[in-house]
Amino acid sequence: MLRARVLGEADRVYTLLTRERGKLDAIAKGARRAKSAIGGRLEPLAEVRVALHRGRSLEVLTEVRTIRSYWNGLVRPDAFATASLLAETVDLFCEPELPLPEIYALLAGAVAAVAASTAPATLLPRFQLRLLDALGLAPASDACVRCGGDFDRHGAWLDLDAGGLGCERCYGARGDAHAFSAEDVANFRALGAERGAGAVLLATPKVARGVDDLVTWHLGRRPKARALVHELT
Ligand SMILES: [Zn+2]
Repeated sequence: MLRARVLGEADRVYTLLTRERGKLDAIAKGARRAKSAIGGRLEPLAEVRVALHRGRSLEVLTEVRTIRSYWNGLVRPDAFATASLLAETVDLFCEPELPLPEIYALLAGAVAAVAASTAPATLLPRFQLRLLDALGLAPASDACVRCGGDFDRHGAWLDLDAGGLGCERCYGARGDAHAFSAEDVANFRALGAERGAGAVLLATPKVARGVDDLVTWHLGRRPKARALVHELT
């Protein structure tokens, strides 16, 4: 479950990311009442199995069973804030009713990792980069966005407007403001790699900032939960 909002006196509308149909909204009648079984099970970021009934305008939730929930009982605020940011980012990027099984698996894996981590926010950059990759928005890590050339020992420059990394010949005159060192470029490559293919989990500070800037650039704004994550870490 990505998001919930109230509807009228007793109902809630939930935004769910589903394996089969992608993102969809479904209403739970009476979910705001204290005794509602459905409302009680639909915790933020819980993985659930649901039964839906096609209503007049919205799908109606008729049954909810919990598969996994990491957030009942005592919860670390930084882990919950980070997981909320993952959900919000997916929500902002994904169109409704478009099956995205790769993104479903990415989010489920990332939420589990964040819930188990003692430094949850450090897992954000890899998630962000893998998400951009799944959406077809990740920059090439081995070719200049302008000339297609390789990056050398000078590293690379992040060009947000062009949506990619640029080489020294094309971007060197810009100065160092958005520059990645050769180590940053190697980290960027490994950060976006699939598990087992030389992937690393943690980003260098430059890469973490660059990936965050890319997400913001593509969304046109910063997700709301981001400020809380930064405050708590
Ligand atoms: Zn170039």
